[in-house]
Amino acid sequence: MAGNRTFTIIKPNAVGNRNIGDICAMIEKAGFRIVAMKMTYLSRNDAEKFYHVHRGKFFFRNLYLFMTSGPIVVMVLEKENAVEDYRTLIGKTNPELAEEGTIRKLYAQSKTRNAVHASDSDENAAWEASFFFNDKEIMDADYCLPLPEDEIDSD
Ligand code: ADP
Repeated sequence: MAGNRTFTIIKPNAVGNRNIGDICAMIEKAGFRIVAMKMTYLSRNDAEKFYHVHRGKFFFRNLYLFMTSGPIVVMVLEKENAVEDYRTLIGKTNPELAEEGTIRKLYAQSKTRNAVHASDSDENAAWEASFFFNDKEIMDADYCLPLPEDEIDSD
């Protein structure tokens, strides 16, 4: 693996607002390689499982209702220091406190509708990635590199 992995979700508000392309562009320009990606949705059952650590918190109901309200895009990202660097790129949970130029500052509408999810540790990144992807769906970053020129016919 070329670096560490983190896991992210483009949340229903950002998908609905047509921000998928801009968010992916920010991710790639920041040096991450997208090694797994799909559009899907969370059932209420799956949302409860995925967010089990937040069960009982005052925002839990809002969070899982919102996260099941529309399509999401899930991705595994690879880069040195992926978890920490991606959290820097997205900014604080509350978009009012998020730093200028961060994904949440640009695309979040509120603490619930805060555009993206990000893993908070390597261990959680691995668990979250496996929640949505099987091993074959996560590419080896080296494999994503372009094929050698001499294997492609020139046209
Ligand atoms: P983060 O997504 O920044 O890692 P947490 O793991 O603490 O934040 O919370 C998970 C999600 O729950 C947040 O992204 C946000 O959508 C929601 N959330 C967290 N704290 C609050 C809050 N105080 N009010 C409303 N929603 C919240």
